[in-house]
Amino acid sequence: MATLTDKKRTKSRSSGRPAAELIFGNLWQFDPAPETADPKLKARYDLFIGGKFVAPASGKYFVSINPANESKLAEIAHAGVADVDAAYAAAQKAFDTVWGKMPGKERAKYIYRIARLLQDRAREFAVAETMDGGKPIKESRDFDVPMAAAHFFYHAGWADKLDYVAPGRKVVPHGVVGQVIPWNFPLLMLAWKIAPALAMGNCVVVKPAETTSITALKLGEILQDAGLPDGVVNIVTGFGDTGAAVMTHPTAAKVAFTGSTEVGKIIMRSLAGTEKKMTMELGGKAANIIFDDAPIDQAVEGIVNGIFFNQGHVCCAGSRLLVQESIADEVLAKLKTRIKVLRVGDPMDKNTDLGAINSKEQLATIGRLVASGVKEGATMFQPECKLPAKGWYFRPTVFSGVSMSHRIAREEIFGPVLSVLTFRTLDEAVEKANNTAYGLSAGVWTDKGSRILKMSTLLKAGVVWANTYNKFDPTSPFGGYKESGFGREGGRQGLLDYCKLV
Ligand code: NAP
Ligand code: MG
Repeated sequence: MATLTDKKRTKSRSSGRPAAELIFGNLWQFDPAPETADPKLKARYDLFIGGKFVAPASGKYFVSINPANESKLAEIAHAGVADVDAAYAAAQKAFDTVWGKMPGKERAKYIYRIARLLQDRAREFAVAETMDGGKPIKESRDFDVPMAAAHFFYHAGWADKLDYVAPGRKVVPHGVVGQVIPWNFPLLMLAWKIAPALAMGNCVVVKPAETTSITALKLGEILQDAGLPDGVVNIVTGFGDTGAAVMTHPTAAKVAFTGSTEVGKIIMRSLAGTEKKMTMELGGKAANIIFDDAPIDQAVEGIVNGIFFNQGHVCCAGSRLLVQESIADEVLAKLKTRIKVLRVGDPMDKNTDLGAINSKEQLATIGRLVASGVKEGATMFQPECKLPAKGWYFRPTVFSGVSMSHRIAREEIFGPVLSVLTFRTLDEAVEKANNTAYGLSAGVWTDKGSRILKMSTLLKAGVVWANTYNKFDPTSPFGGYKESGFGREGGRQGLLDYCKLV
């Protein structure tokens, strides 16, 4: 049991009197609370092509690792050019013979069935997602899997109402689309890609990220169980070379990519001059802006959610905190107190707030950027917390005294690292928030509705959250400006990216 000793005192803004601050430190002893559902993993996963699991032509497999303890989870097939060709041939055949001809109301039934089957196996999928990617089980259980199912439900609802996607115009599918997704929300990104494509009548060739292919292949099992016609969805696993083959294949009428801006640019260069339609969901460096009239305790929760959700492996993470100068000390003090009680460790434990970093490479990238922050003169704060001896972990980190020129204020860290900057006026906040190559998301915390409306107009970001952060919904389009990419996923706008208007 904890004893609430070690009290510190800070000044409370509302009363002016010192407020008690409880320092919990390592005093709280939590019993382990591991999730125990069986993820039903296979020792080896083949490619999902033409409705069947097939071995790669090369016979090559790579290993998927559990980042929480570095243990081997499964072998995953490495698709080469011949496999990608086979996947596109299967998709084209399915489009020409079945899916492209099927009325929307019939397609809807399959998409609905996929959603229901995913719900049936939600716990199993959540555990598999956490084991393969490192995210806390409470997030895969309460966010990733339900949200993935919600995307299928939502798009099942659209499939027989496509006349309303672009009123007055007729919409037709592109045909076969190629899709490549990243490792931070493996199943959810898959749902974001597949569900609108299927609703619109397209067939799909999709490549998951190298470190997190397992739930995609498990979804292949669900597609079989749902009786989805062979070849409508094909899943090819592998590395960047597989991704490049998927993106540049001549059969793909449209490609959709989610990943880093760097790889997005490579793909765009390789497709320049072709007829292919493209959508790009790329990186971000969002500003989470706290005005002096904001509800500070709620804002602190929003800051924590904004940067530490999914270990900060979030394209729209609120990685730059812009706080009004008059309340900066108070916000920073409260933030530090809050971070001290975050639980970092075994992602499979239901009490864990921050799980494992997805890969050794990503851990090294985070370490490099954090070292640059220290070197460039920002002040680093990390709570004392014990990290597991094995696996890849990083302490929640807050940098104060950050200036706009620091690398940690400009580059996407994609980890649990927050850079704190201050501002005096609304104009300065807007200037700083928009002074970035990215434009994916932003947050505004204030008591005034008019200020929220003004900020959401001035901020060059695809999503602006007000008095909340990291809220998602299939009905709401998501996507970026500038180097965060183009095209939208979700909502009616997302469907428009999967059709031609005729
Ligand atoms: P990444 O390195 O760009 O990889 C993304 C995907 O592209 C992976 O499947 C990757 O395969 C594949 N790939 C690598 N090289 C390729 C190439 N030359 N051609 C085609 N595909 C290639 O990004 P990541 O590190 O996985 O993901 C993190 C990035 O995604 C961050 O920048 C984040 O902001 C962004 N993201 C954006 C959104 C959004 O909606 N805007 C959402 C989530 C993430 P391998 O895994 O085998 O390398
Ligand atoms: Mg893995």
